[in-house]
Amino acid sequence: MNSIRRNLLKGAAATTLAAAVSIKAQPLIMSPSSELLPKSGKRRVLILGGGWGGLTAARHVREQAPDLEVVVIERNPVFWSCPLSNKWLIDVVDTNFLVHSYLIPARKHGYTFIQAEVSDIDRGKRRVHTAQGHIDYDWLVISAGIRYGFETWFGNDRKAIDYTRTNYATAYIPSAEHALVKQKIHNFKGGTFVMTLPPPPHRCPPSPYERACLMAWLYQTKKVNAKIIILDPKPRIAPITAGYTQAFKELYPNTITHVPNATIKEVDPFNKVVKTAAGDFKFDDALLMTPHQAADLVWKADLIGKTPDGKPTGWAGVHPLFYNAPNDPQVFVIGDSVGAVSPHFGHYPKAGHVANRQGRSVAQYIAAQAKGQELKPIIIDNLCYMLVNNNPREAISVQFDYKIGADGLLLQTQIDDNERREELWKEDLRWVDIMYKDFVV
Ligand SMILES: Cc1cc2nc3c(=O)[nH]c(=O)nc-3n(C[C@H](O)[C@H](O)[C@H](O)COP(=O)(O)OP(=O)(O)OC[C@H]3O[C@@H](n4cnc5c(N)ncnc54)[C@H](O)[C@@H]3O)c2cc1C
Repeated sequence: MNSIRRNLLKGAAATTLAAAVSIKAQPLIMSPSSELLPKSGKRRVLILGGGWGGLTAARHVREQAPDLEVVVIERNPVFWSCPLSNKWLIDVVDTNFLVHSYLIPARKHGYTFIQAEVSDIDRGKRRVHTAQGHIDYDWLVISAGIRYGFETWFGNDRKAIDYTRTNYATAYIPSAEHALVKQKIHNFKGGTFVMTLPPPPHRCPPSPYERACLMAWLYQTKKVNAKIIILDPKPRIAPITAGYTQAFKELYPNTITHVPNATIKEVDPFNKVVKTAAGDFKFDDALLMTPHQAADLVWKADLIGKTPDGKPTGWAGVHPLFYNAPNDPQVFVIGDSVGAVSPHFGHYPKAGHVANRQGRSVAQYIAAQAKGQELKPIIIDNLCYMLVNNNPREAISVQFDYKIGADGLLLQTQIDDNERREELWKEDLRWVDIMYKDFVV
């Protein structure tokens, strides 16, 4: 053995010995059995998911209950907004508009941000596991968004799932999919572009129609001979039915075809065929949206609701006003994962606005619990703008208001603003500015 290798190995042995000697006092290598963060002596609010709901909750818990420690765990290195991302796909806004640092709000509001993948939740021990170690909580807020239900189409066929994920990604979860979807939309040379819509409830119901409008605008402007076919399991476009129907008819009559009642029967990604209750469709390219479900973390926390006959609903079964787990007032699920909140209308729209309102609400609930006060239900709202034309820039919108009815259950009022106009696009920009300032900038 030459002297360089001998010295190197000697050094390595010495390091290993030193590590072994000091390991009890201070672990040098993080492992799943290590503690992710030392206890601070303060009661801890642990927030899983640094999206619209999670970051809102983090900021407002810090403000409402400054005596509590707040920790956010998020898998992504930077915040990426899905709202406004359809506009980014056709370059109405740039990447800086969607991407934000996690550390800026963490520093500003005084919480800890940890980039890690959460692998498990042990509610019995009030402990969360990540690849870097575990962390205990006093309060837990899960705002982890959605998962794609590929299994409902393909069962355990990993080949079909991975092929579809790679070739027909939809960019409905903040991830690398966005760059892929943008590239394929811009590279499309013409032919049939199929878009399957998930059955309700799903993330941001009006947004697939907006995406179709903006893609159609792009293809018409670039003179690409494209046919966009929207395969919609619903009997009609919803929400903003009249606004979208007019936009399809008046702006994109030769580009967009909306097919109602197109419940998926079979998807063959390899041969590029979608079989539906409204007929079979061959495609040149596609955005294949599977059914959506609550994020994996809600399943891991054993918080998925049950139908009357005991089957999983696919969504979190939490209190409709306080969002806490059954029999656990200090564990909350907010955002898109939340299941039906009222027999009158089912789910809240799965929107960033709703996730933000729920984040603010749980912050107040946690602050009240920390002070030993009684919780008072907070009623939320929702507002959403959709761009249907890029030149001139014209948007439509939908608003939802809520109240508690005489039967004690939540009631919903929906107001569609179907008249497309520039003023609504400007309001959209103001809306996102207010939202970002509330939780991420
Ligand atoms: C194209 C499109 C357009 C939209 N437009 C609008 C709009 O105009 N207005 C509007 O109000 N809403 C809009 N939405 C909906 C909005 O994006 C969602 O409703 C909102 O993001 C829900 O917030 P959330 O906190 O539940 O989930 P998210 O914002 O998705 O946050 C969940 C976070 O949890 C993280 N996470 C998940 N699992 C783990 C894990 N195991 N470990 C660590 N981290 C994890 C994820 O990385 C993610 O950052 C749109 C959505 C799309 C796709």
